[in-house]
Amino acid sequence: MQAEDIEFATEWSAQALKLMADHGVPPCPDNYAVWFRYVSGRCPELTQEIDERIRDNRPIDLDVTLDLQRRHFSDEKLTDVTLTTGTRLNTEVDQLLRIIEESVGNSTALGASVRAASAGLSSGSSPSDVLKAVEAIVTASRKMEERSAELEEHLHATKKELNELQQNLEKAHTEARTDGLTGINNRKAFDEAIDREIKAAHENSKPLCLIVGDIDHFKKFNDTFGHRTGDQVLRLVATCLKNGASAHHIVARYGGEEFAVIMPATDIHQAEIIANQIRETVQARELVKRSTGESLGRVTMSMGIALFRNGDSPTSLIERADQCLYMAKHAGRNRVITEMSEAPRAQALAS
Ligand code: GH3
Ligand code: MG
Ligand code: MG
Repeated sequence: MQAEDIEFATEWSAQALKLMADHGVPPCPDNYAVWFRYVSGRCPELTQEIDERIRDNRPIDLDVTLDLQRRHFSDEKLTDVTLTTGTRLNTEVDQLLRIIEESVGNSTALGASVRAASAGLSSGSSPSDVLKAVEAIVTASRKMEERSAELEEHLHATKKELNELQQNLEKAHTEARTDGLTGINNRKAFDEAIDREIKAAHENSKPLCLIVGDIDHFKKFNDTFGHRTGDQVLRLVATCLKNGASAHHIVARYGGEEFAVIMPATDIHQAEIIANQIRETVQARELVKRSTGESLGRVTMSMGIALFRNGDSPTSLIERADQCLYMAKHAGRNRVITEMSEAPRAQALAS
């Protein structure tokens, strides 16, 4: 650690401890890790979430801290797993190389034994000389057979270990792209998918649509029923999106209470039909607080849909979907507006 790092770390540490005291957060290691990172500003999404919580006067208890860690420290976890896996992989590859070298060594040794044993034989060799040579060859082959069985066993163990390492890596890869609260794709997965699908759309000339959806008046819902109940609603909305979209659509939590569906090979009319079905499913769900049975009413969603155009980048496509969402909010919420809807078309013609 450099002197400059120590200076920053000391400063951040002091600030983190002070903020934790100000907000009544116990200075246990899990809390400290999150607040230290908050102060450092190294993770803007984490900082934004904590700022929102402070602004909304929402508690930041250990559950919240652990959830923040799960969602925002996942990249680090992946790095950890990758590093450990890398080291284990090196060891396994070394083992494998040794096994291969040994087998090659063994067969060379057998060849030498056979050559040595047969070298002394000639047409005039006595039966006992031949017997001795045969015995020598048999002993050498038996040794090699035993050693080969050992090597094979070793090879099996190494293969098993490599399979396990591969599974660990795949698991970490999936975890780093999954939203901890809802279990659907997170923002990182969304960013990768939109890049990939836009590239594909440029090449395959199939229609590609993007839905962005946002829960209506969600702040009020949280304020009225509490943040935990709000979290249940986020899970419910994610399930409605997942069930409503087709298997080849990519459903993601885009931000706090914002969702997105990337829809390859889907035209804007199909996208609008699916979006409206999802919107109606969400609206139809009467929410009930599990612990008390209290009715919480319903939530609604607004959605905007953009259709890929030649030359689009992820940003331009997202921006147009966002504009439609904005119009849906302004037109009264609980509705879907696409680029082909009357209002956006009129606006595009006017501009
Ligand atoms: P609008 O209809 O204009 O979208 O109003 P809104 O209240 O939904 O919009 P706003 O952006 O003002 O508020 C979004 C709220 O979403 C703020 C925050 O309380 C809530 N929120 C964001 N992330 C989470 C989360 O992870 N859990 C819960 N329960 N609430 C969240
Ligand atoms: Mg919002
Ligand atoms: Mg909202």
